[in-house]
Amino acid sequence: VDFELAFSGAVLDRVDHLRTDHEWLSLRMQDPSTSFLPVWRGKPLITFDDKGAHLGWVEPSRIAGLVAKDASVILLGTWQERAYFAIDATSIEQPRQRGPLVGRGKMIDARSIAPDLSPGDAAVLAQARSMLQWHHTHPFCARCGESTRLTVAGYKRVCTSCGADHFPRTDPVVIMAINHRNRCLLGRKPGFPPTLYTCLAGFIEPGESIENAVRREALEEAGVEVTDVRYLASQPWPFPSQLMIGLIGQASSDAIHLGPNELEDARWFDREEVLAAIAGQNASLRIPPALAIAHQLIRAWADEAGQSAG
Ligand SMILES: [Zn+2]
Repeated sequence: VDFELAFSGAVLDRVDHLRTDHEWLSLRMQDPSTSFLPVWRGKPLITFDDKGAHLGWVEPSRIAGLVAKDASVILLGTWQERAYFAIDATSIEQPRQRGPLVGRGKMIDARSIAPDLSPGDAAVLAQARSMLQWHHTHPFCARCGESTRLTVAGYKRVCTSCGADHFPRTDPVVIMAINHRNRCLLGRKPGFPPTLYTCLAGFIEPGESIENAVRREALEEAGVEVTDVRYLASQPWPFPSQLMIGLIGQASSDAIHLGPNELEDARWFDREEVLAAIAGQNASLRIPPALAIAHQLIRAWADEAGQSAG
């Protein structure tokens, strides 16, 4: 696959083996060479310079007060001997007006800033945002209802009463460009902006293979039977913690029967229509922006359709 996906450009070493080394963690959390990424209510701290937007890393002394107040801290990883953490800064009431982050950048909505970040920064943002969001929403034990506490540098929560382990979740989603004789099946949900169509997609259910999830979703949403399924690429999607698994499927026929509760419309688009939409020059078809794997799948489909046609 010759395209670059947002949130997939990981550069940090996740150092799994150091997550339970309490001495190493405690030394690194105070080491002045260590960097913390504050995330406030899902929004990362962002700084700007003449090269553009960057994650707003801060030094340990800045966030000591947050650590003392038991904010969630996640070990993101290491790079060139330095450690990188994310910290939940949500407890700060007005981070731009008062507190330790004043003057250090701006908290910006993750989805809107992601296209402006380097691939490495976007990957770190995906990891930090998904992890902190999971901690934020899992203060209690799903088994007994008592409180849980963060452990293993953020990669586990343990119940303080029954001892049950709880692990951060990733929710796999299949997303597919479906081909039939060099036309691509795209759909739109109620409430989409006018003329916006995208790839069919859906969560993989427990006990289901990736291939079967593609076939089930295509059948449920559009009544289209898919035979061959081929993997193309995947993308972490930290809203809050999906893993988008991008595929190309072959339909056995072009008959469409829309499901009752899914799509407002689904249609087959030919390559010329899709190419014009990619170029932003199709008045009757818009596709998602480059940040989304759907955009890259549609592009990949158009490339392949071009090769098989010519
Ligand atoms: Zn429990």
